[in-house]
Amino acid sequence: LNELFSSLPTTIFEVMSKLAMEHASVNLGQGFPDAEGPEAMKQIASASMYDFHNQYPSLLGVPELRQAVAAHSEREQGILVDWATETLITVGATEGLASAFLGLINPGDEVIMFDPMYDSYTSMAKRSGAVIVPVRLRLPDFSVPLEELAAAVTPRTKMIMINTPHNPSGKVFTRPELEAIAELCVRHDLIALSDEVYEHLVFGGAAHVSLRSLPGMKERCVRLGSAGKTFSFTAWKVGWMTGPARLLNPIVKAHQFLVFTVPSSLQRAVAHGLDKEADFYHSLGPSLEAKRRYLEAELTALGFDCLPAHGAYFLVADVSKFQRPGEDDADFAKRLTAEGGVTTIPISGFYVGPRPPTHLVRFCYCKEDIKLQAAVERLKAYV
Ligand code: PMP
Ligand code: GLN
Repeated sequence: LNELFSSLPTTIFEVMSKLAMEHASVNLGQGFPDAEGPEAMKQIASASMYDFHNQYPSLLGVPELRQAVAAHSEREQGILVDWATETLITVGATEGLASAFLGLINPGDEVIMFDPMYDSYTSMAKRSGAVIVPVRLRLPDFSVPLEELAAAVTPRTKMIMINTPHNPSGKVFTRPELEAIAELCVRHDLIALSDEVYEHLVFGGAAHVSLRSLPGMKERCVRLGSAGKTFSFTAWKVGWMTGPARLLNPIVKAHQFLVFTVPSSLQRAVAHGLDKEADFYHSLGPSLEAKRRYLEAELTALGFDCLPAHGAYFLVADVSKFQRPGEDDADFAKRLTAEGGVTTIPISGFYVGPRPPTHLVRFCYCKEDIKLQAAVERLKAYV
C-alpha cells in the first residue's frame, strides 16, 4: 500500500456532510451553493448529448471552451492567452492541481504554500515529491507575512503556490501582497501556481487581481479556474488552466494519463457560460455579500468573533467562547452538528505547520436565506 494514501483520513468535507445527514443538521460545512447556475447551460449540456457529442474529445479540451477560456482571461484580467498552446480543460480544478504538481515538481523541490490551505493541495504535492514549506497567514485577517515569505525562499525553492480568494478564510489577496509574491518569483526565478477558482466571488470593495497579470508573471505562472464556482455547478467538475506552453506541456502529459479528457457536453455548456453568462457570475459577489452580512451580524450578536474577509463563500469564526475544556475545533464542530443541528468545518486540518489554531470553524453561507435563518435559530437555541 502507498504509505501516504493508506494513512490519510477521509477529507473533512465528506466526513462533515455525512455527519450532517445523519443528524439532519443545517449543513453550512461543505462549500456548494443552493442556487444553481444558468438554465441555458443545462439545456446546452443535455442537447449536446443528443447532438452526437458523446465520444472522446481532444485531451486538451474542446476548441470552443479553450477559446472561451482565453477570451475570459483577457476580458476579466487583461491577460492575453493563446488558446491553442496555453489552455487546458481539466476535471475540475482538483485534477488540474494534481496534474500541475505531477507535471512540474521533482522529488525534493520545495514549494512555498500558505497555511491554512485547501486540503487537496497537501497530499497531491507530497505525492509528487514536493517538500511543502508552509508560510502562515496572520490572523485576524489572514494577511501575508512578507518578511517570513521572503525568508522561506531557499536555493531548493521551485514554486510558490497561492489561492485567492482563499479557502478556508475567504481572504482576497491584496495587490501589494501579490506584487511582493510576484517580485520574489521574478527575483529567484520561481514558478507560481495560482488557484483562482473563486475569482468572481469577491465583494466589499475588494477586487480580484490575478497573480498572472502582474509584471514578469505571464511566463512563469499557471492559473486555475472552475465552472463549479463560476457557474455554481459543483458536480460538473469542469475546470480550466492557462499558462505558458513550457509549463503547461508537462502538466498536459500528467493530465493525459490521469483522466485523458473531460465530458464534451459539459465543456460545450461551460463554453457558452464563459462567452454569454457574465451577468450570472458578476452577480455572485453582491448576492454573497448580502448573505455574509446577515450571517456575520447574527453570529456576532450571539458572541462569535467573525474574522474579516471579502471573498469566496466562507466565514471563519472564533468559537473559543463556546468550547468546552479540552475541546478542539473538530470536537466542537462535531458536537455542534450532533447537538446543535448546525454543521461547520473545523479548520485546524487545513494547516500543515505545527500548532494550528484549534478555535476556528468555517461557516459556508452560499445557501438559501431560509437555510441561513434556520441555522441562526438553531444556534440561538443551542449556544
Ligand atoms: N481549489 C479550491 C480553493 C477549492 O475550494 C476547491 C473546491 N471546490 C477546488 C480547488 C476544487 O475545485 P473543483 O470542484 O473544480 O475541482
Ligand atoms: N471546496 C469545497 C469546500 O471547501 C469542497 C470540495 C469538496 O468537498 N471536495 O467546502
